Amino acid sequence: MKLHLLGINGPFPESRGATSGYLLESGESLLQFDLGSGVLANLTALTAPESVSALLVSHWHFDHTADIPVLMYRLQALNRVMKVLGPADPDAAFYRLVSSVPCFDFTEVSPGQTLSVGASRIRVCAARHPVPAVGYTVSDGTVTFGYTGDTNTLPSLTEDYRGCDLLLADGLFDRSAWTEGKPHLSAELAARLAADTGAGALIITHLNPFIPRSLLLQEARAVYPDVQLAEAGAAIEL
Ligand SMILES: [Zn+2]
Ligand SMILES: [Zn+2]
Repeated sequence: MKLHLLGINGPFPESRGATSGYLLESGESLLQFDLGSGVLANLTALTAPESVSALLVSHWHFDHTADIPVLMYRLQALNRVMKVLGPADPDAAFYRLVSSVPCFDFTEVSPGQTLSVGASRIRVCAARHPVPAVGYTVSDGTVTFGYTGDTNTLPSLTEDYRGCDLLLADGLFDRSAWTEGKPHLSAELAARLAADTGAGALIITHLNPFIPRSLLLQEARAVYPDVQLAEAGAAIEL
């Protein structure tokens, strides 16, 4: 597997940056996780977006979906259909768009569900966020990748992501800014999750341009040494 970090910010991008979007090469499959602001251009730099096997949406907040309506224009121009997976959220405008426009072949997913795309086995994981949200794990039979989407603490996370070779986790807040009622984990809690699940490696993402990276890294490293902060444009082999 190979993971491309196409957009690593949230809920808004840094200068020349992009919000959530990650491309996973898994065997013959190309799995795109989320498609935030600026991600479609970065995806297009790597591959023709319509060649993606499936778009896996964690939730319908705009920092994860902003480029979906412009992807629609490209698909319509090419008369192509893209498979999309995501949670049901009838209050969300882009959920209503994706579940009604013919260029998207939409499948509603819910936590605990397993499905296949090509030879990749996908499991849908629960998340705790102010709107319906999920995370995903992908296994090719040898290697397992996990993406938490946006979440704060939830007891089931430890089982859901147990044994991932690479865990890509929301860790937006520094310790002093995090509370139990916030919509995201802290970097320190993402590191705690990686330690508790026995993750092979951890990348902390959904980085807020206003929170210093050095502070997040320092707080996470104290708990889980094999941690990196997401770097826009990076590609990681697993
Ligand atoms: Zn977000
Ligand atoms: Zn969100």
